[in-house]
Amino acid sequence: MGLETPPEAPDLKDRRTTVSHLNELLDNNRAWAKRRAHDDPEFFARLTHQQTPEYLWIGCSDSRVPANEIVGLLPGELFVHRNVANLVVHTDLNCLSVLQYAVDVLRVRHIILCGHYRCGGVTAAVQQRPLGLIDNWLRHLEDIATKHAPHLPTDESGRIARLGELNVLEQALNTCRTTIVQDAWRRGQDLRVHGVIYDIADGLLQEIGFGAGRDEDVMPMYERALEFITQRETSS
Ligand code: ZN
Repeated sequence: MGLETPPEAPDLKDRRTTVSHLNELLDNNRAWAKRRAHDDPEFFARLTHQQTPEYLWIGCSDSRVPANEIVGLLPGELFVHRNVANLVVHTDLNCLSVLQYAVDVLRVRHIILCGHYRCGGVTAAVQQRPLGLIDNWLRHLEDIATKHAPHLPTDESGRIARLGELNVLEQALNTCRTTIVQDAWRRGQDLRVHGVIYDIADGLLQEIGFGAGRDEDVMPMYERALEFITQRETSS
């Protein structure tokens, strides 16, 4: 009596699928590295030295908003922090560490706070849809909705779009208010904080009217941008 082949464990099958998917990515990577080295033979040699990006990008983790690609910057040109709904929370050690390293060590000259329309995080906050642990993170968006309740349209898609814009403004303000940016400005460092929003529907970035390069400009800029946002037609 021969031994029966045990049925294949389902997780083994899953693992094999995962490996083959990963192989595809590794193949893509080899092709990309080859192309890059062909176009610019010194490219990787240059990157092995210290990076000197001029920009810090704080954006959403959404896979449709690839930071470098949409602003046409190469590896080495953009320092990036991403999280769900592009939040700058005053107690988030991860975000603050990225910010501190970018400002104090890399000496970036611009911080770009980028939100986007059709953001899943913003949508969940507006719809109050329970998604699990992340609901705690999205409470920050609900706080913004409460703060700006009179500025939010009544229809749902309008609310989602407007809250996305207001979120960019509030996160740009939070960035300006960190000790990191405040200290940089106090010592006269050249550093500007900008707010932009990306539209997945057409691939375009739009300014929200906020750009501050010193502490005295922050609140006037905030008021100006708030007026700009609330008086324009809601997009998307
Ligand atoms: Zn998003």
